Amino acid sequence: MDFGIKGKKALVCASSKGLGRGCAEALAGEGVNLILNARGDEALQATAQHIRVTYGVEVTAVAADITTEEGQAKVLEVAGEVDILVTNAGGPPPGMWTDWDREDFIKALDANMLTPIALIKALVPGMMERGWGRVVNITSQSVRAPIGVLGLSNAARTGLTGYVAGTSRQVADKGVTINNLLPGIHDTDRAVSLDTGVSNKEGISFEEARKKREASIPVRRYGTQEEFGATCAFLCSVHAGFIVGQNLLHDGGGTNITM
Ligand code: NAP
Repeated sequence: MDFGIKGKKALVCASSKGLGRGCAEALAGEGVNLILNARGDEALQATAQHIRVTYGVEVTAVAADITTEEGQAKVLEVAGEVDILVTNAGGPPPGMWTDWDREDFIKALDANMLTPIALIKALVPGMMERGWGRVVNITSQSVRAPIGVLGLSNAARTGLTGYVAGTSRQVADKGVTINNLLPGIHDTDRAVSLDTGVSNKEGISFEEARKKREASIPVRRYGTQEEFGATCAFLCSVHAGFIVGQNLLHDGGGTNITM
C-alpha cells in the first residue's frame, strides 16, 4: 500500500531512540523528510545519519529539551511549516501516590501535556491553512487503564487526552487529524528502566521482572519500535483521514478492556 505521503515534512519529537525513532524511521520509509529532536546530540546525529543513508530522505537534527519553552522555540524555528507532527518526550518517573508534590506534577504536566499542546497550537494552524495535516501524540496505555506507580503519567497524559478529544473535532474539517497512539510495553530503554524498578521493588532479578511483565501480555512479548512506527506512519497516511480523535492502543492486547 502506498501511504501517499512521499515528500511531506514531519517533525518527530524525542526521536533519537525508542518509539520516537521507530516513528521517524517508518515515516522515512514512506519518503517523508524529517526534523528529528532529542536532548543528547551524539545519539541524535547518529540516528539522523542512519536515516539519511538508509532511506534517502532529508533529515535535520535539532538537539533541545522539547519540554522547555526554549527547546520548543529552537525546534519550531528550524522546523518551519510541517505536514506531520509526532509529539513525544520521556515519561515521568514511577513512585507512590504520596511521593509527589506540586513541582513534580508541574514537571509531568509540562512534559506530557503542555508540550504537545504548545506544539499543536504552533503547527496545526498552518496545516489547516494548507488543508492537510496529521498529528500523532505518543501517550500511554495508562490513559485507558491507569497504572498505579505511574500516577504522574496517568494524570498528565489524561489531561492531554481530554484536550485532543475536543480539539481534534474542531480541526478535522480542514483536513487535519489528531490522534493519540498508546504504547503498552515496548522493548526500549524505558522498558529497561521500568523492569529495573519492578526488580528492585519485588526483590527479583531483572530477567525475572521482564519475564513476569512479558507473561502479562497476551502476545507474551514486548512490542517493537518498528511495529509501533508502522502504526504511526499509517495514522499519518492519506488513508487515515477518517480517523479522528482516537486513542489507539498498541499493547499486544495487554489492556484488558472491551473498548
Ligand atoms: P526511550 O527509549 O527512553 O526514548 C526516549 C527518546 O526520547 C530518546 O531519543 C531521548 O533522547 C528522547 N527524549 C527524552 N526526553 C526528551 C526531552 N525532554 N526532549 C527531547 N527528547 C527527549 O523512551 P520510549 O520507550 O521510546 O518512550 C517514549 C514515550 O512513550 C515515553 O513518554 C514513555 O513514557 C512512553 N511509553 C513507553 C512505553 C514503553 O514500553 N516503551 C510504554 C508506555 C508509554 P535524549 O535522552 O537524548 O533526550
